[in-house]
Amino acid sequence: MPEYRTEPYVVPVGSGLLPEGERSRRVALTSFDKGRSAVPRVPSREVVCYECGMVTSVPTAALSAKCSHCQAYLKMTDVELKPGAQRLTVRTLGDVRVLADAVLSQLSVVCRHCYLNGRGSGNFRCSGNLEVNCNNRIEGSVQASRLLVPRGVDLVLTQGATCDELVVSGRVTGRIVARKSVTLRRGAELYGNCFTPALNVEPGAVHRGEWHAVVPE
Ligand SMILES: [Zn+2]
Repeated sequence: MPEYRTEPYVVPVGSGLLPEGERSRRVALTSFDKGRSAVPRVPSREVVCYECGMVTSVPTAALSAKCSHCQAYLKMTDVELKPGAQRLTVRTLGDVRVLADAVLSQLSVVCRHCYLNGRGSGNFRCSGNLEVNCNNRIEGSVQASRLLVPRGVDLVLTQGATCDELVVSGRVTGRIVARKSVTLRRGAELYGNCFTPALNVEPGAVHRGEWHAVVPE
């Protein structure tokens, strides 16, 4: 077996210092360019703070962040509400899913998209879609950018709903304020007064109630 010997480290010049040219070359290799910031750029996105309503920039990959305006802690993960869930107040910039078979009342949900695949009642404020995928009776305030009620779903809104857009293929009962439009697809039924500049009732859809083209403040 050959004997193992380490190579001695030989400094090429007697002083132990690198020659000037070599030193400059190494400094250049390990330095940042003058034009570039020494702080690495983190990919970020703009979100609306759910506490103060201001637009703030957060790292894309973060699970939580702080609002730069009000310093509120902003949760960014998606949340699933299972049957028997104890935590009924949810604040997140992510999505909330109420799982099928859940029956949850007195929810307080602020999120991006919300999917009611089970039954959930309470207050909802969604910056994105609120999609109601099973029969539901919501006793509380409902605000969403888009409220979607698919075919076969019977939705009762005891306090009505405020949204930009309502798209119904199933049945909705309640007072609707829609800042942009209401679309009733073929077979859809809407029972209740409707405040929207654009009410589109496709053939075979039914609206029972008054239509006001002016949206109340
Ligand atoms: Zn804020």
